Amino acid sequence: MIRVFVDFEESEEVSFIRKTVAEFMKRFPVEYWRKVDAERRFPEEYWKAAAEQGLLGINIPEKYGGLGMGLYEVSAAIIGVAASGGGLPAGDLLMRTMVFAGLPIEKFGSEEVKNAYLPKLVEGKLICSFAHTEPNAGVNTFDIQTYAQKEGDGYRINGQKIWITLAHMADIIVVVARTTPREKIRKKSEGLTLLLVDAKQNGVKTSKIYGMALRPLSSNLVYFEDVWVPESHVLGVVDRGWEALSALLNAERVCTASISIGCGEFLLEKAVDYASNRRVFGRPIGSNQAIQFPLAEVKAELETAKLMTQKAAWLFDKGKDCAFEANVAALTAARAAFKAADRAVQTFGGNGFAEDNDIERFFRDTRLFKTAPVPEEMVLNYIGTRILNMPRSF
Ligand SMILES: Cc1cc2nc3c(=O)[nH]c(=O)nc-3n(C[C@H](O)[C@H](O)[C@H](O)COP(=O)(O)OP(=O)(O)OC[C@H]3O[C@@H](n4cnc5c(N)ncnc54)[C@H](O)[C@@H]3O)c2cc1C
Repeated sequence: MIRVFVDFEESEEVSFIRKTVAEFMKRFPVEYWRKVDAERRFPEEYWKAAAEQGLLGINIPEKYGGLGMGLYEVSAAIIGVAASGGGLPAGDLLMRTMVFAGLPIEKFGSEEVKNAYLPKLVEGKLICSFAHTEPNAGVNTFDIQTYAQKEGDGYRINGQKIWITLAHMADIIVVVARTTPREKIRKKSEGLTLLLVDAKQNGVKTSKIYGMALRPLSSNLVYFEDVWVPESHVLGVVDRGWEALSALLNAERVCTASISIGCGEFLLEKAVDYASNRRVFGRPIGSNQAIQFPLAEVKAELETAKLMTQKAAWLFDKGKDCAFEANVAALTAARAAFKAADRAVQTFGGNGFAEDNDIERFFRDTRLFKTAPVPEEMVLNYIGTRILNMPRSF
């Protein structure tokens, strides 16, 4: 009997997604994204069209209106929208619907919650945010202070979050909160809970942060003041939210790696085209190895990062642990994308700084993933201490 262990052939599903996305994105050319970035305006037209095209429900089961595929296909879609010129905001909008909300609701929500939210997510009727980061906790999730206090048949949330993208427009927010004080837990990963919050309540207050990256979507300070969450809106098990959060964060890493890869592909194509046509000293600048070799390196690094991203997505879809692969994918893809941006600027010379060439926008946006959602130092900490079993420095 012949057993096939690895198969790099593109599946029918991925081929369908890739072709659908390529056709769909012709309606949203790079000029569209340049404009929404300059105006810091939510890409409403893209959002609605993506929902109509079914691109917000790729991983949502068919019984809730989705396509019933997996993270592997979500990743393929995200690479496609980013590579076509949509970049970070186009990819982020798919990720936040399918991974920040769709995934934890589908995997950890009650049937009531699934029925109430999943079809609306697929139809683009709900904008979702994910509220994890806090001003006083930083990358140390176990230090978060936002507290969900049990009260009758629900929870009352108080606390503050920072950098919460799209919270000013959100209908729902997936919130990471503490439900048992740190001094009362046995293991540090206990006492956290994931809650699905109705963001239109009076107690949810937001204040915009005007940032360098992701300008069409905007991030926010968010204040929760006595915000009510019914018990049915707990995602997963109370105090054991680490399990649901880990699944979400691994999937998020696969998606941010996918955005990076798409951005890198866009930048590389532009740089190669420019290098092949721009003539200085009577020959194309791309014939100089100082220009050509770094672009060849970017190609190699993007392809390597893509393989790791696909492996992480594949493991995730099989229900296997993919933390190492997702972290490595996020690290390598972020580095490759930012290198692509830097080399594109260098290849374009002065023209790399002109907004009309889109390079500076991608330069700002690809820088994000070296810092957020997971800074590269924390990925290296994870590999050093958890995979290589080296001593901790903190
Ligand atoms: C545009 C944008 C959008 C965002 N959107 C969201 C969102 O929607 N939801 C959300 O929850 N968050 C969001 N974030 C927040 C983001 O996830 C965090 O900024 C990121 O995780 C880093 O956390 P921090 O800013 O608190 O950095 P800090 O924890 O203050 O760390 C600062 C630096 O110190 C380093 N550092 C800290 N500890 C160590 C250590 N032990 N060893 C080595 N280095 C260390 C870090 O790696 C980092 O480089 C967003 C951020 C940005 C910029």
